[in-house]
Amino acid sequence: MDEVTNKVRVRFAPSPTGDLHVGNIRTALFDWAYARHTGGSFIFRIEDTDTTRVTDEYIAAAIDTLRWLGLQWDEGPEVGGSYGPYLQSQRLDIYSDWAQKFLDQKDAYYCFCTSEELETRREAQKASNVAPGYDGQCRNLSADQIVAFRAEGRTAVIRMRMPDGHTTFVDQIRGEISFDHKYVPDFVLVRGDGSPLYTLAVAVDDIMMKVTHVLRGEDLLSSTPRQIRVYQAMDVAIENYPIFAHLPFVMGQDNAKLSKRNGEVSIAWYREAGYLPEAICNYLALLGWSPGDDVENISMQQLTELFTVERVNSSPARFDMKKLEAINGDKIRALTLDDFLDRALPFLIRAEVIEGTAAEIQLVQAALPIIQERITRLNEVPAMLKFLFVKDFVVEQDSVAKISDASSKQVLTRALDELAPLQEWSNTSIEAVLRSALIEELGLKPRIAFGAVRISVTGGPISPPLFESMELLGKSVCLARISQAIAL
Ligand code: GLU
Repeated sequence: MDEVTNKVRVRFAPSPTGDLHVGNIRTALFDWAYARHTGGSFIFRIEDTDTTRVTDEYIAAAIDTLRWLGLQWDEGPEVGGSYGPYLQSQRLDIYSDWAQKFLDQKDAYYCFCTSEELETRREAQKASNVAPGYDGQCRNLSADQIVAFRAEGRTAVIRMRMPDGHTTFVDQIRGEISFDHKYVPDFVLVRGDGSPLYTLAVAVDDIMMKVTHVLRGEDLLSSTPRQIRVYQAMDVAIENYPIFAHLPFVMGQDNAKLSKRNGEVSIAWYREAGYLPEAICNYLALLGWSPGDDVENISMQQLTELFTVERVNSSPARFDMKKLEAINGDKIRALTLDDFLDRALPFLIRAEVIEGTAAEIQLVQAALPIIQERITRLNEVPAMLKFLFVKDFVVEQDSVAKISDASSKQVLTRALDELAPLQEWSNTSIEAVLRSALIEELGLKPRIAFGAVRISVTGGPISPPLFESMELLGKSVCLARISQAIAL
């Protein structure tokens, strides 16, 4: 707990070197849920000290993604807070002041080894079966040696001195964990160009931002003893160290760690493919955590009520795209018509199916109920509704042959004759006349008869329910399209 406010403070601290991915968002969601559950603060910090890989675009995209998912932060970019700035690139002086202090205290030292020298020695370590890592060559340089190295034109990194012994801590998910320092060599805090490394910046910030709980991916578990070493050098009392909880890996279907190779990882991709943020959050919430029973549907509200770290599973979670898609379908069906409209319109506009005029929007609104049950992603909407808006209607190339034979012409001619005099143009009246003429009188199978009509009015074999579609299209358009198909 933060000793002043007695409140939990958790942070989500991505390094946006690309779009945020499934694993990042699962972490962010758990951080957020934990903060909300405990009435604490959710801090969003951007770890952008690696300027060669983190770009302004990726930072902006990360902020946008979190907002889109509804994971509002209490402190961080755009909202500020008492412990800012929350972009590490704006905190560089803080890190160099600490690094200088560590040098003064002899917790850290200048290391002049070049990367070629390190590489040669690493090879030698390998050959003689010694654990790889920095061998301590520059640990005890005299002032004269330092001057001599500088005179040679060498630049120095700043390295943390790792004492002999162990680091032991209790991980909230994994229990007690101990690292033998034999396997935690002296590590670099500051590069030759003066820029801080992750281990320095993350540890300094977690302490200075009074973070009480670090919930993050298991891939960072091995960096924990180094961070704890930095806390010691900062002279932080043990009771003020953050509590660690390392979340299990997210695996792909093939049981390998989820990556671009075995699954789609970028959240931006899911957004563009028409997944709803609430479906993504629902699915990811249950990836490695469960409230106790076989729940499949969970709202953000329920998540914040029920989330505890104790219920996070320590074994890896498998990402199942089919399950996510099913949940997405459920969430789409649960939308109110107005909400569905708001979410579908950008997809229709982007696909250039509509421009967004009032008349178009009215027609979309009338059409959405007939597809709401039938789609699992919003990006299916344009293809489903295109037939209502195309200016120069033509039957799809692949479908032309299916309605060009003599029997199809007969079906369509009969349909045209029956529909032309119809007074009331509604899905029930359309269905009634077509059924009685084509199925009962001509004795055709519905699939054959209605299939031909469907292709002629919607352009292809797949469409929303036929009679509703025809009602929406209007009588004159339907008759014109059927005539056009007969003339093919
Ligand atoms: N910035 C680190 C990363 O994106 C995570 C920092 C942390 O959670 O400790 O990998």
